[in-house]
Amino acid sequence: MECQKCKKNLAKRGSHFICQGPCQGTFHGGCVKGLTADIKNGRNRIYCNNCEDDGSEEEEQEEYSQDFTKILKDIQLKVVAIPGFKKQLDSITQSLSMLSDKYDILIVEHEQSKDKIHKLEKTIADVYVIS
Ligand SMILES: [Zn+2]
Ligand SMILES: [Zn+2]
Repeated sequence: MECQKCKKNLAKRGSHFICQGPCQGTFHGGCVKGLTADIKNGRNRIYCNNCEDDGSEEEEQEEYSQDFTKILKDIQLKVVAIPGFKKQLDSITQSLSMLSDKYDILIVEHEQSKDKIHKLEKTIADVYVIS
C-alpha cells in the first residue's frame, strides 16, 4: 500500500490517515496538511486535503471572487464613461453631417456659378459679334 500523496510505501504498521472522503486514500500522517495541528487541537479529521470542502480551496475562491469584483468595478467605471463617449460621438457625427450638407450646397452653388459664367461668356461674345 502506498501513500496517496507522496506515493511512497506505507509501513504495514503505524497510524496512517485514512480519508473518509471520495478518494478513500491512505496517507502518511505527515502528508496530510494540518492533520498534526488538528490532532493537537482535538479535532477529528476525516478528509484528506483533496476531499475536505473547507480550507485552502475556499480561500482561493474568495481571492478569485475578489479579483472578479475588481474586474467588475473596472468594467462599471468604463461603462459609466460610455455615455460621455457617445455624446462626443453624436456631436462629431452631427458636425460631419452638417459639413457634408454644406459641401453638397457648395457643389450645387459651384455648378450654378459655372453655368452663370458660361452664359455670361456667351452673352459677352454675342455682344462683341453684334457690335
Ligand atoms: Zn506520504
Ligand atoms: Zn480524500
